[in-house]
Amino acid sequence: MLVDYHLHTVFSGHAVGTIDDYLAKVEELGIEEVCFTEHTSRQYLPDEFRRQIPDSWMQDEELAVYLKLVAAAATRTSVRVKLGLETDYFAGHEEALARFLDSLPLDFVLGTVHFLPMYEMRYISLVDEEPAAFLVAYFDYIKRAIESGLFDSIAHIHLGWQIVPWPSGRAGKTVEKGLAQVVAAAATHDVCLEINTRAFNFEGHGTLDIYRRFMAMIADYGVPITLGSDAHDPKDVGRNYPQVLRTLRHYGIDEVATFEKRQRLMVPVGDQLLSTAQGK
Ligand SMILES: [Zn+2]
Ligand SMILES: [Zn+2]
Repeated sequence: MLVDYHLHTVFSGHAVGTIDDYLAKVEELGIEEVCFTEHTSRQYLPDEFRRQIPDSWMQDEELAVYLKLVAAAATRTSVRVKLGLETDYFAGHEEALARFLDSLPLDFVLGTVHFLPMYEMRYISLVDEEPAAFLVAYFDYIKRAIESGLFDSIAHIHLGWQIVPWPSGRAGKTVEKGLAQVVAAAATHDVCLEINTRAFNFEGHGTLDIYRRFMAMIADYGVPITLGSDAHDPKDVGRNYPQVLRTLRHYGIDEVATFEKRQRLMVPVGDQLLSTAQGK
């Protein structure tokens, strides 16, 4: 079964297209199930802490509208549409987030690390410190997000190794150990890791070699995956799927997670998109 479990909407403040435009593209590609995962508006955080976070993305009052519009659009398509959020992990605010998520009718919660407190809450793409120290801190924070038990899957871990070059030598080994600890924690806590297909654009310092190491670790530890394009534009739905599906097969990863009211159901990964217009 083909799924795309990471789609944005105009409520992110940095995406284009209507929900129906995304679903038309999904149908065209033969993707059978999707989940919209808009950024949380973060109204559960104390004001003082919230002010330190640079990007607000979805506004508080838009959350209910987003949930309503996705549910309404789901009735107009043959695609199975799930309701989700992409939610930042902030250590120290776990209980408030748990209460907030429990109050919403969600199928799926995608955890994410975009901001690191040890780097003054800068958006991680703006961190330009020493690569090994940054990656170790970043992986450790992701590990804490996994251990919180708040999330069904963890998004786009590759952002870290796109931002800085992967260190060589002894530092490279230390960083690799940090990544392995993230994957091991996902296995222990039974949390999915996302294969974010935007990673296969290999932006910044991202390389296929590092991504293959990540996938090999996922296969070794038997961690369940979610699959998502992180589309902020209907044309990016299912992006890079042909190459990603081939690579998953190479590592013997043949199942993908779907969610209903936060309960996981593993299904076989689909073979190919109907349209090969996505290329690669
Ligand atoms: Zn994100
Ligand atoms: Zn996203």
